[in-house]
Amino acid sequence: MGLLDVENLTTYFDILRGEVKAVENISFTVEKGDAFGLAGESGCGKTTTALSILRLLPQNGKVISGEIHFEGKNLLEMNPEKYRKDIRWKKISVIFQGAMNSLNPVMTVGQQISEAILTHENLSKEEALDRAGKLLDLVGIGSERVERYAHELSGGMRQRAIIAMALSSNPSFIIADEPTTALDVIIEAQVLKVIKDLQKKLNIAMAVISHDLSMIAETCDRIGIMYAGKIVERGDIARIYKEPFHPYTKLLLGAFPSILGPIAKLSRISGFPPDLLSPPPGCRFHPRCPYAMDKCGKEDPQSIHIKGEDHFVACHLVE
Ligand code: SF4
Repeated sequence: MGLLDVENLTTYFDILRGEVKAVENISFTVEKGDAFGLAGESGCGKTTTALSILRLLPQNGKVISGEIHFEGKNLLEMNPEKYRKDIRWKKISVIFQGAMNSLNPVMTVGQQISEAILTHENLSKEEALDRAGKLLDLVGIGSERVERYAHELSGGMRQRAIIAMALSSNPSFIIADEPTTALDVIIEAQVLKVIKDLQKKLNIAMAVISHDLSMIAETCDRIGIMYAGKIVERGDIARIYKEPFHPYTKLLLGAFPSILGPIAKLSRISGFPPDLLSPPPGCRFHPRCPYAMDKCGKEDPQSIHIKGEDHFVACHLVE
């Protein structure tokens, strides 16, 4: 059993037109100190998975079935107040997407970080502020900026301040949801380096959520590829990037230009992702899959373990 074990998680949203089947029967494990990437296009269920783990689903969202074990405890069975006090932020924290909007504009960054510390620890305000300064040093902003407001910081600094806040209670697991959205490529590279260095230095487990496969390649050891609410392929990232088995993964990776390899035509995926109010029967990718067979529209492919490898694929071709 890993640090985090998600088993057959299914999460739906109730809306006026019906039930959105946002996440369907997904499973993955993250070990201590491991970095797991959850990749896929917008709307495939990545953030819903994170919100299910954090128990921050909006009122119309509900976990229909499955289990989420963290350090051996089923998080979904915990009393909400106990979860808020003992797990969220203290053991599992989060770097939200959109550094520009995640900080409170009328509080200094030091106040915001120390507020997170004081919620979980019995420290004085001065001690919490002192720790906030040390965290700002750790992420490379410098403790002298503890009295600054968000508008006085650049985009990269704000994102580092969010990372400092995520580290404030020494969590053992961090969920980074699109942590570099809206940053330019230079700042993105710097922020990714900060995340990667801290993850290794502090031996923190991470789940990195992104549509950007190159960003996940830079930060993660393992990956789960999501399509229309399901994980279609998961395992060791080097293996999957070298030899993807699932047609969707192949097409996604084929859509990235190589700067080292020979000039090659990029692949494209025809059609659009399905409406999850009524997803297609069988394999959810079958209306867009160039290899689809009769069976694909009727039977949902089960996740199959490739023998001897950290590699799982849900596709009838692999059976
Ligand atoms: Fe394509 Fe069929 Fe595999 Fe789905 S199960 S990815 S439709 S070949």
